[in-house]
Amino acid sequence: GKPILEVKDLRVSFKMYAGEVQAVRGVSFTVEKGEVLAIVGESGCGKSVTAQTIMRLIPSPPSVIKPGSSILFDGKHDIAKMTESQMEHVRGNDIGMIFQDPMTSLNPTKTVGAQISEGILKHTKATKAEALQRSAELLTLVGMSNAQERIYQYPHELSGGMRQRVMIALSLACNPKLLIADEPTTALDVTIQAQIMDLLRDIQKKTDTSIILITHDLGVVAEMAHKIIVMYAGKVVETGTLNDIFYNPKHPYTWGLLRSVPRLDSDKNRELDSIPGTPPDLYKPPVGCAFAARCPYAMQICKEVDPEHFDIDGKGHSAACWLNHPDAPKVELPVGIGR
Ligand code: SF4
Ligand code: MG
Repeated sequence: GKPILEVKDLRVSFKMYAGEVQAVRGVSFTVEKGEVLAIVGESGCGKSVTAQTIMRLIPSPPSVIKPGSSILFDGKHDIAKMTESQMEHVRGNDIGMIFQDPMTSLNPTKTVGAQISEGILKHTKATKAEALQRSAELLTLVGMSNAQERIYQYPHELSGGMRQRVMIALSLACNPKLLIADEPTTALDVTIQAQIMDLLRDIQKKTDTSIILITHDLGVVAEMAHKIIVMYAGKVVETGTLNDIFYNPKHPYTWGLLRSVPRLDSDKNRELDSIPGTPPDLYKPPVGCAFAARCPYAMQICKEVDPEHFDIDGKGHSAACWLNHPDAPKVELPVGIGR
C-alpha cells in the first residue's frame, strides 16, 4: 500500500537577524502503515524541527519551508502547502503528537476528561457525554485504573508518568493514522520511561497506528522501531532497519551513538562514551561531510565533498559516508559495535 507519510527533500530554515540557520537540509523518509520509525540524533540535529514541521507547529516567520520540500500525508495531501485551517483538521485528527513534557502541554485548569473530550468534540459528532465516556475508555487503554474517577482529576493531581499516559490518551482520542512522539520519556525517571515505552509499543500493536519516535537515545528505540533514521547537522546520515543500525552500522556517527548506549547482551561494565566535539554551526554548514571535524576516520575527500548516500544492501540500508565507497580503505568497527 501507499505510505502514510512521505517526506521528500524537506528543507527548513530559520531566518534570524544574524543570518539563516539551515536546521533541516534535505531530509527524505517514508513511514508505512503500522510502522514505527525512529529519528535519532543529538539535540540540534533537526529531528524536532522535522517533527514540528510535519505538524506545522513552528511559526513562519521565523521558519521557512523551502520550495521543493514536500510532506505527503496519506498519499495525497501536501502538509508543506497546507493553510492553518487545513492544519487544524490534520492536527489531533489525522496526526497525534506526544511531547516531552506533559506538564507544559496539558492545560492545568481543566480536568483530564475535559481535555481529552475537547479533541473528540472538535473532530467528531459525539455528544459531551459520549466524549467523556470515550475519554474514560482511552484512559483505561493507556493503563490507568479507576478511569471513571480519573476523568475528573486535574493534571497536578497526577504523577509525571500518569500525566504522560494522559497525553498519550489525548493524542489517540480521534484515532489518528500517525502518532509523533518527540522525546516522550526524556522528562521521566528510568522505570517510568520503560513503562511508557512498553505502553506505546502495546498501543501500536493494538491500534496499528504508525509512529514517528524522536529521541537522542538509541537505547530507547531498541525494542520498538522497525526503521531508524540517524540525523546529523540537519541531514539523514544513515537509514536502516533496527538490525541494520544496531548490528551492521555503516556511519561513524552511528558508531558514536551506539557507544553511548548501554548494551543489554554483553560487556555490561563497558564505559559509555559520548562523542567528542560539537556539531557544526548551521548558519554556515561546512563544505564536505558535516561530521568530518569530529570523525576519527576523516579523509581528504570528506573535507571537500559531501558524501551521497551509499546503498548498503539494496534493501533500504544506506549511509552517507565515504567509507562505504568501494575504493575506501577498510576500517575495523570500534570495539563493542556491531555483531
Ligand atoms: Fe567520517 Fe568521512 Fe565518513 Fe564523514 S564521510 S563520517 S568524515 S569518514
Ligand atoms: Mg528536541
